[in-house]
Amino acid sequence: MKNWLLALASLLSLQAMAQGKYGLKATTLAEYRASIVSNPDKELVALKDVIPDIVLDVRYATTNNFTKEKIYSLPRAYARKPVAQALYRAQQEFKKLGYGIKVYDGYRPYSATVKFYEVMKGDTVYVASPYKGSKHNRGCALDMTLVDLKTKKELKMPTAWDTAEKESWAAAPVKDPEVRKNRETLISVMERNGFKVYEAEWWHFDFVGWQNYEVMDIDFEELEKK
Ligand SMILES: [Zn+2]
Repeated sequence: MKNWLLALASLLSLQAMAQGKYGLKATTLAEYRASIVSNPDKELVALKDVIPDIVLDVRYATTNNFTKEKIYSLPRAYARKPVAQALYRAQQEFKKLGYGIKVYDGYRPYSATVKFYEVMKGDTVYVASPYKGSKHNRGCALDMTLVDLKTKKELKMPTAWDTAEKESWAAAPVKDPEVRKNRETLISVMERNGFKVYEAEWWHFDFVGWQNYEVMDIDFEELEKK
């Protein structure tokens, strides 16, 4: 009886390992490739390919982020195809106003979310829970701001990107009317084009319909291997 229980326990712990440390089984490269065959919308596309005039500042490929470590080996911003297409439509609207999109982060491999959670010691307001994964892991979220098309300089916003402060909240009171207008423009154009701002971060937008896309753990190098 005891041996039988031990065998069962070791079988269960093996299964737990296969499910990941936090009980979430992220999509692998092989599973991702199979998913695109049955549903082409699941393809992760490089934002630069869909929106050539987009500005990228992929901070997690540098040490200029809250972890102070280089998390990505390549400075890439990917999103699922319909997400990139919706962002393209938003870009056309911003351009009419003299602005352009600057992206700090798009698709983020699940292992990076686990790392962030461990760095932040379990905070789940400003980093996603590894038990559920982030919408970035699904290729359905963007961290972004606006730049002036002429100067390429960032518009003034309430805080810097990835600041874990009360001023980061999307509806936080703002005194400066210019800053308030900039944040309002960003949020209203994005929300008209199929996104929803995250209440605790003015820069984070989820694609409406993210539930249809799985959490993935594929790094950029794997993704670019043909
Ligand atoms: Zn984000």
